[in-house]
Amino acid sequence: MFTLPDLPYDCAALEPFIDTETMRIHHDGHHGAYVKNLNEALENYPNLQKLKVEELLQTLDKLPEEIRIKIRNNAGGHYNHSLFWQMLSPDKGQTPEGKLLQAINTSFGSFDTFKEKFTQVGMGRFGSGWVWLINNSGNLEIMDTPNQDNLISSGKFPVLGLDVWEHAYYLKYKNKRADYIAAWWNVVNWKGILYNFESRSRFPGHL
Ligand code: MN
Repeated sequence: MFTLPDLPYDCAALEPFIDTETMRIHHDGHHGAYVKNLNEALENYPNLQKLKVEELLQTLDKLPEEIRIKIRNNAGGHYNHSLFWQMLSPDKGQTPEGKLLQAINTSFGSFDTFKEKFTQVGMGRFGSGWVWLINNSGNLEIMDTPNQDNLISSGKFPVLGLDVWEHAYYLKYKNKRADYIAAWWNVVNWKGILYNFESRSRFPGHL
């Protein structure tokens, strides 16, 4: 059975950029519900319970039809949020370094241009979804997905992800998604993202 991972920092650690109450509700409430619903969907499928969440997402087409959409949404929600918490850091104001900065410069021209493009894609994502920085063998690309879909289901590897669901920002930023994204840049865990980029595997931790 899947369990809700603890936040790797206190709910208040990302203030003032992401507020305590949003972090609490987002982690305990929203992420907690994805885990609970995922476990319920798998209740009568002991063989599927043995799979990792990534494996469920990479074999969606082969899952029993009656639970496929539930798994897509809730395994997706569990996976995306498990990554998201680790992609944020109380060590605020970080910027990308090393090979990751080089790759950003090569792919987008500069870090500032990358930030503009990533923000644009986040603003253009209609309704709920995610924005991703994808590593294609060293070439970086920005993509987005609706709902709780993750590009790992189509064999692409996310290095960085941003949750643009309203539940991620509405308490503090109301309908101002642009203000949330501008604040979010201050708490990106670039040290962790560099590790993620270089290791080409998911963050350490238990999903
Ligand atoms: Mn969320």
